[in-house]
Amino acid sequence: MTKNDCIFCRIAKGEIPSATIYEDEKFRVILDLNPATKGHALILPKDHWDCLYDIPEETAAGAMKLAKKLAATLRDRLHSDGLNLVQNNGSTAGQTVSHFHLHIIPRYEGDGQKIGWVPGSSSPQELDEIKKMLTD
Ligand code: 5GP
Ligand code: ZN
Repeated sequence: MTKNDCIFCRIAKGEIPSATIYEDEKFRVILDLNPATKGHALILPKDHWDCLYDIPEETAAGAMKLAKKLAATLRDRLHSDGLNLVQNNGSTAGQTVSHFHLHIIPRYEGDGQKIGWVPGSSSPQELDEIKKMLTD
């Protein structure tokens, strides 16, 4: 499944050159053009899916397996101290390219990056209500 107008489809299929650090039949992993840190990479399935809501479970599992493998490579070769996995779905959540991708962002002591959220607060009642909405 390819979309001609999708930049990540074209990169994943090799129609547009990229700094590829891993490739197999189902995935290509490229370095991000605007990296948060040295080695910031994107795991791209070669098939087009907009986001996590759409991908088959095996694609999700495959992406996570690759992240696990690359985490060690980034640590060992770039001497990173930690790692963030980031995966945005929908423009509200910050997705700018509508082709599923998993960010793998190596972290370095003192790199100055901020990746995260503003912590909120919730009463036990609120947590209970939400739990019921999700499980009843
Ligand atoms: P999103 O915000 O959708 O989660 O992330 C999209 C990411 O893709 C951004 O970090 C952006 O820098 C990266 N990106 C966008 N276009 C290109 C491109 O043409 N090549 C590469 N290597 N990265 C891209
Ligand atoms: Zn695509």
